[in-house]
Amino acid sequence: MADIPIPEIVSEINNKHQFPEFKGKVIKRGDVDYDAQSYQYASSSHLEDGIIQPAAIIKAADDSDVIKAIKYASENKIAVAVRTGGHQYSGASSTSGKNIQLDLSQTYKDFDWDDENCTSVTLGVSFPLGEFNAKLREKNRFVPHGQCQYVNLGGHIQTGGYGQLARSFGLFSDHVKKFRIITADGQVRWVAQGEDLFFAVLGGSPGNFGVLTHATLNVFRDQDYPNSRGLRAAYPYDRQRLKDLLDVMVEMVEDENFPADYDYCITVLSEPPFRTFELTYDMAHRKEGQQMVAWPPMIVVFAQWANLQGEKQTYNPDFFNKIKQVAGKGLVQVSDKEHTPMSTLTGHWIVPISREFELPYIKRTYSSNSNSQRLKEHKWTDWISDRIEDGRNWNYDKTSGPIDVGCNVAAQIQHFGGNNSRFNQNGKRNTASFSWRDANILCTVDAFYHSYQYEQTIEWQKKNDEGVGKPEAAFCEHDRRVLWGSYDLDLSASHQYYYDQNPEGKYERLCKIKQKYDPSGVFTPNRFCIGLPVPVPADSKDGIKKRIKLSGSETAKERAAAIELAKVPQLSAEDRFWEMASTERELGKTVPLWNIWRA
Ligand SMILES: Cc1cc2nc3c(=O)[nH]c(=O)nc-3n(C[C@H](O)[C@H](O)[C@H](O)COP(=O)(O)OP(=O)(O)OC[C@H]3O[C@@H](n4cnc5c(N)ncnc54)[C@H](O)[C@@H]3O)c2cc1C
Repeated sequence: MADIPIPEIVSEINNKHQFPEFKGKVIKRGDVDYDAQSYQYASSSHLEDGIIQPAAIIKAADDSDVIKAIKYASENKIAVAVRTGGHQYSGASSTSGKNIQLDLSQTYKDFDWDDENCTSVTLGVSFPLGEFNAKLREKNRFVPHGQCQYVNLGGHIQTGGYGQLARSFGLFSDHVKKFRIITADGQVRWVAQGEDLFFAVLGGSPGNFGVLTHATLNVFRDQDYPNSRGLRAAYPYDRQRLKDLLDVMVEMVEDENFPADYDYCITVLSEPPFRTFELTYDMAHRKEGQQMVAWPPMIVVFAQWANLQGEKQTYNPDFFNKIKQVAGKGLVQVSDKEHTPMSTLTGHWIVPISREFELPYIKRTYSSNSNSQRLKEHKWTDWISDRIEDGRNWNYDKTSGPIDVGCNVAAQIQHFGGNNSRFNQNGKRNTASFSWRDANILCTVDAFYHSYQYEQTIEWQKKNDEGVGKPEAAFCEHDRRVLWGSYDLDLSASHQYYYDQNPEGKYERLCKIKQKYDPSGVFTPNRFCIGLPVPVPADSKDGIKKRIKLSGSETAKERAAAIELAKVPQLSAEDRFWEMASTERELGKTVPLWNIWRA
């Protein structure tokens, strides 16, 4: 096992750092805008874990700043955390103690087509997905990628880019030809398929091997998929509706030769808890504009037929009709009745909000290779529908607004598998190190909570965990996690969940590559890194910590009021859905989600 130094994780004020030669902006712990600058997606969830408090944040202007930061870290025996979009769920793109954070959110924004035909592009990593998607669409080009518009390419390239086109086109990273990286020795390298760094950086452990600056990607042309279709529709939340839609997914899993053209994803969202008295930590710190966007408790369906064989292939609507039939009445925003170009569809699959709820979360993403027989034997669709139903009071009080009894749930379930799936097929090439490429279904169940709901949320997630990791578990016999949807703070200690044995000895090989390119641990800024010695677990009372009130301003009295409200007659989720569906956009008021959700 690699002998990599354990990072400094003690939080301490350290004003000794001096950065006189940097061109970019340097913000030190203690500076007035430190809180705003160190804020990222995981802050409200993990601030108390002491891992999102870098001694300084270096907003690099260019390569020379990056190289200076690396040199500075080496000389001072400290580590560098690299952040581009700041969307790592465990907070791994930040650090603490004496360590520093290199912020690349604005550093690398060049974008150049490599040929006249626009089939290959070389671009910097500082693009949010929304902007990147729009740039490709200008030329009627697309690639598969994830669904959050503010996730940046810097991390996304390394964690995969799991999204709606997974069966039809695979992962975003499957289309990376080469990338440019600055390693711990200060060298700038272009790395191509076949090299050990290519294997390690794509899927190994983000941020641990060097600073990624650019990548060259192969992209696809709309004109090669002239009949593509998509369906994006929202339906009122209802447990039975959810179960029926999931049964359609299991039927899809059952047909192992289901064409790769089809992708199908179900998202469930409870209603955001807008309360006039509340200013949560995330509301106060979020950088990506005002988020006064509302929706009712709902199920959102994405389905797509990619027309992989081009002109000669005709569209058969049977699968989409089955979805529509079980879903019933809903708001159809993208219809399969007409052709929609792939580059437009990929825009429709991006959710136009900065975070689901402006609260801290406890996250879970599980990957399963269970076949349909196993899923049916274990009644998984019933089980997961019950778990989601159990997470939240899904109804609403007309006079007082949404009721905060139960946590705020964001769940997403998608089919990735089958013999024809390119997610599965591309994985067999083993050119990158992404694990669990034999997955059939990925299931995310995230819970966002007010501080008084913290213990209840922990309990809910504990029950969800029973769905994996043992022979009788409803979803998967094994506990298989994905780096993009991490929920651990210590990757080395739980590496068996994140890394498979394809090829055999993968984790050990990655540790060796890490040792080769970063022998002194410059890119080991926290415990969400590979190759660290596994600590003896501390006695943590089942992991339940006392939360300080980062999440909101509620008092015990307000909580009691919320519980009382839950007892009064409520609108059903169905009524609430249609009430909100007829809401018009009004200046100065909260915007219904579907008014802003366009490609
Ligand atoms: C709301 C939300 C929705 C998401 N949806 C999806 C989805 O649909 N599909 C999906 O696949 N993923 C999804 N993700 C996960 C996301 O794609 C990954 O966490 C991604 O790595 C984030 O990249 P980033 O640059 O935005 O984040 P960061 O936090 O800046 O970086 C993520 C990781 O990459 C490292 N890193 C970042 N930039 C560089 C760089 N230039 N050089 C070296 N290391 C770097 C960081 O150190 C960190 O470990 C979602 C995340 C969120 C919060």
